[in-house]
Amino acid sequence: MASGTQDANGTTLKQRYLDVKSRIAAAAVRAGRRPEEVMLVVVSKSGSVDQIRELVQLGQADFAENRVQQLLQRVAQVDEWRARRAELGGQAPPVRWHMIGSLQRNKVKKAVECVRLVHSVDSLRLAEELQAASVRREAPTEVLVEVNVSGEGSKHGVAPGAARHLVAQIETMVNVRARGLMCMAPLEGGVAAARPTFERCRELFEDIRHSGMGGERFDILSMGMSADYEVAVECGANLVRVGGAVIGPPQVTEEPEEA
Ligand SMILES: *Cc1c(COP(=O)(O)O)cnc(C)c1O
Repeated sequence: MASGTQDANGTTLKQRYLDVKSRIAAAAVRAGRRPEEVMLVVVSKSGSVDQIRELVQLGQADFAENRVQQLLQRVAQVDEWRARRAELGGQAPPVRWHMIGSLQRNKVKKAVECVRLVHSVDSLRLAEELQAASVRREAPTEVLVEVNVSGEGSKHGVAPGAARHLVAQIETMVNVRARGLMCMAPLEGGVAAARPTFERCRELFEDIRHSGMGGERFDILSMGMSADYEVAVECGANLVRVGGAVIGPPQVTEEPEEA
């Protein structure tokens, strides 16, 4: 979609982006926090590369994808665009990528090369895979432990009771660093079901943090998507992952990841 083009709802990408930003800020203030304490990660999985570029020019730096293949493609496309802009003497604002989908073992190596944060670590095996793949990185790969708070079988994530143990195991790894927790609201039940889930995750996060596990840098609580990011911020999220509310109607269709 071209810049400034309205979609079926009669809004532009810029309007939706600014609306989400201001709603996050208002929710933060309601919760007695400063707006800058909440990071917005735009989930670009259903968006176009044009939209990503437009958002970068609006000052958005953090983007998330849930499939490694599309992540790698987009990293390359956006890097090329930034390099071209820099050559022309223009500004090339920084872009950081987040991996939020389940990570297949054979794709770990490629993913760690280009991401700032992996939100979806839910097993010791995956953490070990990340450790092995990160040996050549200058800095440790930063990860969140994904918790299946609501206990839905269809979801990824460790049981709340196992999260602390996984964080402790990651603590022993030199090249992986646990930065916090990630969770999703139940698929059903809307905002009413989201709130207790988010509150429970927040408690778990504080428990782990106050036990000193994960060290000082265990400080990211990633929760909230388009339907519930304001509730998540009220419940203590300091990172929200918002796709549709910014992107609008999908620009690309999601395909299952190749094996
Ligand atoms: C797709 C996705 C999001 C964003 O969802 P929207 O409803 O489009 O905001 C957030 N987190 C994860 C893990 C996702 O897969």
